Amino acid sequence: MKQNRRNFLKSSGLLAGVIATSSTTDLFSKNINFMGKDTKMKFSFKPYTLELKHVFTIATSSRSTTPVMLTQLEYDGIIGYGEASMPPYLGESHKTATEFLSKVDLSQFNDPFEVEDILDYVDGIAEKNPAAKASVDIALYDLVGKLLGKPWYKIWGYDKSKTPNTSFTIGIDTPEVVKQKVKEAAPYKILKIKLGRDSDKQMIETIRSVTDKPLVVDVNQGWKDKHFALDMINWLNERGVKFVEQPMPKTQIEDMAWLTEHSPLPTFADEALQRIPDVIKAHGVYSGINIKLMKCTGMREAHKMLNLAKSLNMQVMLGCMTETSCAISAMSQLAPMANWADLDGNLLISNDPFEGMLIVDGKVTLTDAPGIGLTKVNENLIK
Ligand SMILES: [Mg+2]
Repeated sequence: MKQNRRNFLKSSGLLAGVIATSSTTDLFSKNINFMGKDTKMKFSFKPYTLELKHVFTIATSSRSTTPVMLTQLEYDGIIGYGEASMPPYLGESHKTATEFLSKVDLSQFNDPFEVEDILDYVDGIAEKNPAAKASVDIALYDLVGKLLGKPWYKIWGYDKSKTPNTSFTIGIDTPEVVKQKVKEAAPYKILKIKLGRDSDKQMIETIRSVTDKPLVVDVNQGWKDKHFALDMINWLNERGVKFVEQPMPKTQIEDMAWLTEHSPLPTFADEALQRIPDVIKAHGVYSGINIKLMKCTGMREAHKMLNLAKSLNMQVMLGCMTETSCAISAMSQLAPMANWADLDGNLLISNDPFEGMLIVDGKVTLTDAPGIGLTKVNENLIK
């Protein structure tokens, strides 16, 4: 049909006439760009270091910065933004991400809408590097959403009023500091408490002495005995805890399945889960999964994992690392479909180059900006 019309235009001499007028010439060349004949995707990346507002302490170390990689994917004058966040304990770094991203050659693709093919290619460049892969994925999703003029929650058909509240993490500390942190967390409706040490009950009692907000707990594989874990969960259930994340080591699969079967609270896989095959492994072992862009290679796979978990009747939590509003806003596009959100990573840093999703009255609140929903980019910070 197209061809017939083209032949008609040609044979009737109309095509030459159309090209001769300047306004329609612009239209014509724009069309060629859209078809990908003239335009290539330009990919670039830059190491960046997030400054944390407070020193972040986990069992084995403390740190005050997080290395990230900021990416840009430009096509036809439009820029998509992406990010890799790489907390050191996960094994990626500025060095590994630079090595990986240097290999990304998108010149073989003419059309950014070939999302599946492009990201299959990126995934195949090397085996691991999930955060580096996510930085390409997020930039591509931002670009494609901008080309469509819509945020991804709309493209996916979600109702943005259905987003959950986010939890806000209270780290392990002395009772006085914990009480102060709970006070500072006043804007958040759900508090996430890190457990898995000898002082677990004391930690909960300290928090309960100053607030009756719903709590969720993350044990980070800290409980090794299933009977002890069940006793703890029963005790926590009586104190207003709503779910338990990764209570036991990820390798104790049988124990974990037993615990989930007997637990009055939902259990969530975090360390036990990275990508799509892990969702299937988690089914029957945990009640739900914690999806993180930096573990699962980005929005494409996160979206598939969410749909798979839902179809298996599992709950979904959206989690994050310390990261900028770029990756947080990207993940938030899925929030209307999630049971729980743990998207506080951008609130912990003092040099966020982006603005996007906001927490309003404790709730994940999406913008209507296209792509991943960024409303502001501080060019001075990312130059
Ligand atoms: Mg966790």
